[in-house]
Amino acid sequence: MIKHNIWNPAAECMPREQIRAIQLKRLQSVVRRVYDNVPLYRGRMDEKGVKPEDIRTLEDLKYLPFTQKTDLRDEYPTGLFAAPRKEIVRIHGSSGTTGKPILAGYTRNDLENWSEMMARTLGAAGATEDDTIQIAYGYGLFTGGLGAHQGATRVGATVVPISSGNTARQIMLMKDLGTTMLCCTPSYATHIGETIQEMGIPLSDLKLRAGCFGAEPWTEAMRQRIEELLGIKAMDIYGLTEICGPGVAYECMMQHGMHINEDHVIAEIIDPITEEPLPYGEKGELVFTTISKEGMPMLRYRTHDLCQLNAEPCECGRTFVRMNRIMGRTDDMLIIRGVNVFPSQIETVLVSIDGLAPHYMIEVDRKGTTDSVEIQVEVNEGVFTDTVGQLEGMKKQISERIKSVVGISANIKLVAPKSIPRSEGKAKRVIDKRKL
Ligand code: ADP
Ligand code: ZN
Repeated sequence: MIKHNIWNPAAECMPREQIRAIQLKRLQSVVRRVYDNVPLYRGRMDEKGVKPEDIRTLEDLKYLPFTQKTDLRDEYPTGLFAAPRKEIVRIHGSSGTTGKPILAGYTRNDLENWSEMMARTLGAAGATEDDTIQIAYGYGLFTGGLGAHQGATRVGATVVPISSGNTARQIMLMKDLGTTMLCCTPSYATHIGETIQEMGIPLSDLKLRAGCFGAEPWTEAMRQRIEELLGIKAMDIYGLTEICGPGVAYECMMQHGMHINEDHVIAEIIDPITEEPLPYGEKGELVFTTISKEGMPMLRYRTHDLCQLNAEPCECGRTFVRMNRIMGRTDDMLIIRGVNVFPSQIETVLVSIDGLAPHYMIEVDRKGTTDSVEIQVEVNEGVFTDTVGQLEGMKKQISERIKSVVGISANIKLVAPKSIPRSEGKAKRVIDKRKL
């Protein structure tokens, strides 16, 4: 029999009417809060002729304006904060499109709520105070490490805040401390698993039982591989910095979709072109409205993640709707080694360098468990006749510029003029061979 560990049954198994009642009350209060405190929201709501008191039912959500990643960039660093600075007790951030991160501010209550969301997430994977949880998500501005850390602390587990990297040491502590749960990206989990295998450590030397993996897309095939390599149950977890970080949605033991923490966020699926809300079950763009956040509430944030919502009752007893695995993105954002990368950023760098033609191809691959990027770019006729030394210098300049603006290391390949295939329609500039 499957044990459906539920951290907070009063919240996670609420009748639907009760969830909706909480959602409406919180939505009304968050709309009031942003209208009164954030010029961007006030301006957009005024433009649409919507006042906070117009939100009378949950269906009225559709009258509220959308927000986007570009809004966070335009309002950098703190223009979307809705609480006075003295109430902001934490700032996190994520890679943005200009080399500057997008930032999120949290009040004390926000941190409490986020810890609760993450405690439910870990709880669903079976976490209790008897567990030792190794957090191998990066610690720092990135929400992964501290987000999982707070949830694990709330559960009362023994937390090992090792952060990512240094795989041999990860495995040593895993063995010596009898770590029972692991939190990291699915690609890092695979790498840890393969390293354990290479080191010839039998799984019987480890006490690992489950893991919570997210922050990047992965597949059922990858789940199987991780489960085999580590001898665990591998759970999918979803989140994004703009909404709070990890813990927005989490898988239960059914491993069939992620329950959305609906007392803290309202999820919608919209048609990305018409922007109209779609019924449950239809595939579209996932949009979130935060309803408990004070520091930086988000109204109808367009994630650009494609997915479906499932409102069927779940065997685990939770009543929160589920989102299925992310099926892709509506924009061209790539996630490379955990960094959000837009091809347009790379293009901006390339066109700023003398001697390069605006013809390029970005090839992303995954060797073992590490993403690699190769950028082929055409040089102009004049440059092509330069010496090897000059060309090497140019390559170095490009890769340094990309590293500093985009935040990733790329292998640069200079190619002859007119050698990159021209397209008659929309140019195809990205080849992603990772099969995600
Ligand atoms: P994080 O700090 O969690 O990486 P970011 O804001 O940098 O947050 O990135 C969020 C994006 O990461 C999401 O919009 C989504 O595209 C991707 N993501 C996060 N978790 C998952 C997951 N479990 N499956 C697929 N994609 C995910
Ligand atoms: Zn469930």
